[in-house]
Amino acid sequence: MTQEQAISKDIYRMAAQCRHYAMCKIDYLGTGLCPPAEAYPFVSYFPQGRMDLYCALNDGVVPMTQGAVDIIESCTFCGRCDRQCHFTTGLRPMLVMAALKKFLDDYRKSGKDPEKPEEDQPLTALRRIVGSRWATNDPALLVAYADDPFPLAQLQMPRYVVMPRDREEVVRIVDTANRFGLPTVVRGNGGSVFGFVFTDGVVLDLNRMKGIDIDADNWTVTVEPGVTSFELQTAVTSRGFRVNTAEPAATVCGNIVCTGLFSTWANVYGVGADGIVDMEFVDRNGHPFLINHKTTPNCFAFEHAVIPSPGICTKAVVKMHPTTEDEDGLFVPFSTFSEAVSFATELSRRRIGLAVGVLGGHYLSTFMSPSSTLAERVKDIFSNVLGIAYVVFVIGDRFARETIDKMTPHIIDSRLFRALLLGLPRLDNPELKALIMGLEGNDPPYAYLFGNETLPVMEATLSSRPETLAEATPSDLREFYVELYSQPHMTDLVWLNMFRIISARMSRHKHMFAFLVYVPGDRLEIVEQIIDHFVRIAERHDISHDYGFLTPIDLGKRAILEYDYYIDHTDSQEGKKIEKAMQELEPTLDRMSAEVKGVTWLKYIFSQGCARKEGYLYEQKAPSGR
Ligand SMILES: Cc1cc2nc3c(=O)[nH]c(=O)nc-3n(C[C@H](O)[C@H](O)[C@H](O)COP(=O)(O)OP(=O)(O)OC[C@H]3O[C@@H](n4cnc5c(N)ncnc54)[C@H](O)[C@@H]3O)c2cc1C
Ligand code: SF4
Repeated sequence: MTQEQAISKDIYRMAAQCRHYAMCKIDYLGTGLCPPAEAYPFVSYFPQGRMDLYCALNDGVVPMTQGAVDIIESCTFCGRCDRQCHFTTGLRPMLVMAALKKFLDDYRKSGKDPEKPEEDQPLTALRRIVGSRWATNDPALLVAYADDPFPLAQLQMPRYVVMPRDREEVVRIVDTANRFGLPTVVRGNGGSVFGFVFTDGVVLDLNRMKGIDIDADNWTVTVEPGVTSFELQTAVTSRGFRVNTAEPAATVCGNIVCTGLFSTWANVYGVGADGIVDMEFVDRNGHPFLINHKTTPNCFAFEHAVIPSPGICTKAVVKMHPTTEDEDGLFVPFSTFSEAVSFATELSRRRIGLAVGVLGGHYLSTFMSPSSTLAERVKDIFSNVLGIAYVVFVIGDRFARETIDKMTPHIIDSRLFRALLLGLPRLDNPELKALIMGLEGNDPPYAYLFGNETLPVMEATLSSRPETLAEATPSDLREFYVELYSQPHMTDLVWLNMFRIISARMSRHKHMFAFLVYVPGDRLEIVEQIIDHFVRIAERHDISHDYGFLTPIDLGKRAILEYDYYIDHTDSQEGKKIEKAMQELEPTLDRMSAEVKGVTWLKYIFSQGCARKEGYLYEQKAPSGR
């Protein structure tokens, strides 16, 4: 293989690694969005779509079309995608953009003209509704809507992608698709990565529907379905409020419908119907309805079955929550899972704090580190040197903080967190290690190391500055990282948890296959039994795996648990492992969901996200509940 071939193979491999989490669709680092994509927001114009296009052209899945030419030529080589994508996944999409340009140059040299897909009858009808720019059958644009890293589904090309502007257009599109006998699927940002947003018919991409209307008097906000969590949080925080959101690139409406929107804030804001005032859907026959209306389908009732969603959500009226000036974040470290869960449950039961979650070493180290190698090192130090296996993460006001101070002497407060974060690459420096080795006593090392009096020592030892953290990043991006981490919000636990821009880092080393299970928070033995089940099966199939998080709900009576498997989604062998693991996981999770009070696997909630949580958290179980 020539050097050139080897390089292009590496570039292909990187393009195929795109996680499809849609982070390039939000301006989460203040770099600005990909300029051509902002102007013409088909997924295909975003860096994510360009990565797909590169693979598809190389694999011969799509021909060089006029659409492909337009996409490739529109890249300005501004470099924004490199910064954004490196921050989350460590990938460098600019290499792919350059390779795409070369691909087009070579194609042109061969003297061929790009193909122009013919407009057919359904496309004419769709274009009549949305205008010719906003409906397409060009394979180069379609391919970005054909696949995600879910290992158990195949590439499925839609026939058309259409981007409506308002509810009336959605109604007419559904009607037109029905007339032509075409199936439809609605797509938010495709961040569910579970093979949900694919069809061989019409994809409705709702990203032009971006309206946000704040009703500050009522503490509510009305959002259209193209609005992402990041965008909504940005809008409401400027008015002194917060909304309960999770993944920043997820559309708010899509997230509510799909998972019921859970996060560490679920401790106080709840899940599912707790977060919404009303929602508007367009049903499969093209009829709009509001879920609060007495005569419409009862979306609030939960059914223990995998069922389709109520339709296409075209509007959600969401609750806003007031914030106070004195909110702050902290971590309480623990050596064992049971101690951490008991503490989190106790906080929830006593109504102390707002967001609460039990995090493991993988999440903590990965979220904090700007590179995967640093994350590995830090994980090892946290658990093996400092003795921190789990932390309880809390956001609360000063009263919560004062109370937690009385409950435990060991707290990583926001100042210490900042010192640790900015000094992370020096955490394994010999001076600190020597200090730890010299400690005497029975408590874990963190118990001696973290406290107000040690803060200046830590700051000095770790040399906590943006420049230190940036040492862990590639040299050509260091200046950018220094500037980024010089901004106070980048080390502010409240901001980081509200906007959640670091959570997608959890799959930086490999794509995650997340399992979410509602559990009885006060029955640790059940929680541990479920975790053991995930561990055993992952190990039997040689799948990389780790604990995710647990958040108490309903005063700790219930909780949501995430356990993650990690796979290289481009490796078919890994897909087979997951397939086999699923065959073993499913029966137990299904049985427990059917029999054990408080256990419900998220599989049953997908598409029933508007349901009242009481329907699944307190479901009466057959035969007798255990
Ligand atoms: C790294 C990562 C972490 C995550 N963590 C969380 C988490 O903590 N909490 C959580 O709740 N989720 C989490 N998720 C899951 C993800 O945020 C949700 O699946 C969310 O729905 C994705 O939003 P989306 O707009 O990309 O939806 P899509 O993937 O586009 O769609 C998801 C489903 O909703 C349907 N849908 C989309 N829009 C609409 C609409 N307007 N009307 C009707 N149906 C619609 C789609 O057809 C599909 O079935 C995580 C995902 C990732 C990748
Ligand atoms: S380099 Fe090209 S693909 Fe990347 S953000 Fe800029 S214009 Fe978009």
